[in-house]
Amino acid sequence: MAHVLAVDIGGTKLAAALVDEEGSASRSGTRPTPRTDVMTALAALIEEVTGDEVPAVAVGVGCAGPLDLAAGTVSPVNMPSWRGFPLRDEVRKVTGLPTVLAGDAQCFALGEHWLGAGRSSDSLLGIVVSTGIGGGLVIDGAPLLGPTGNAGHVGHMSIDPYGERCTCGGRGCVEHYASGPNLVRWALANGWTPEGDPAKADARLLAEAAVTREPVAVAAFERGARALAGMIASTAAAVEVSTVVVGGGVSAAGKVLFEPLERALDDVAGLAFVRSVRVRQSTLGVRASLAGAANLAWQTFASASRP
Ligand SMILES: [Zn+2]
Repeated sequence: MAHVLAVDIGGTKLAAALVDEEGSASRSGTRPTPRTDVMTALAALIEEVTGDEVPAVAVGVGCAGPLDLAAGTVSPVNMPSWRGFPLRDEVRKVTGLPTVLAGDAQCFALGEHWLGAGRSSDSLLGIVVSTGIGGGLVIDGAPLLGPTGNAGHVGHMSIDPYGERCTCGGRGCVEHYASGPNLVRWALANGWTPEGDPAKADARLLAEAAVTREPVAVAAFERGARALAGMIASTAAAVEVSTVVVGGGVSAAGKVLFEPLERALDDVAGLAFVRSVRVRQSTLGVRASLAGAANLAWQTFASASRP
């Protein structure tokens, strides 16, 4: 059976797998992302996964953004050694195969749509809530990438035009309210201290505190959930998604995030097609982006496998 090579590149980890048209991975591998010379490490990983012969018909690559799909270049925020790096051409050189590139959050959305929590829906928004907030859209089964490949950057949708300045330069972005570090920042500023030591504060401890109904922790998640709900309702109104899949480290908080999110969405959404949006927790977790990169390769180069 034909395979594509899927590659997922993040600030902490590189992953690759050979994936068939059904979504089964035959060979896979991971390694830590080095601080410099990432491409050498990536080439070694690709060789390890593909073996001596390259049995794949195409390559799909998901990479942390921002990126420029027209040029095939990436400049991941958390990988300073890559600025305008010609990733698509470099992977093509290493593999000799047709190569397609997309953002890692777009691949997350595509992966959840293909094999995960969004399987039953034609159109979905995937959101990755962790250090930042990433997003990707699948509309009528196909990824919505945009001219330079940056469509779906929902973390930087403004949900408050009078809000605080965001690190992106914008104002009132949902990321400034709902990402892990921003949930923690707000909780600390409002009197929450984990086990008496502010230095230990992170989103996981904040979630544990919310589970025990610590009031500031609960309020932090309610505030973050309300920001997410505003963004979700706006996105649904713009492009009519029926499902929203939420992943990333903060989604592991579970009920303390998803219950206030459902309530807030019920409050902010008005039109019937917006109100009918279903919110689901990711089922693929860290494997979603890799699955999406494989699906992107199949969607882009399907004809290559059917001579
Ligand atoms: Zn922003």
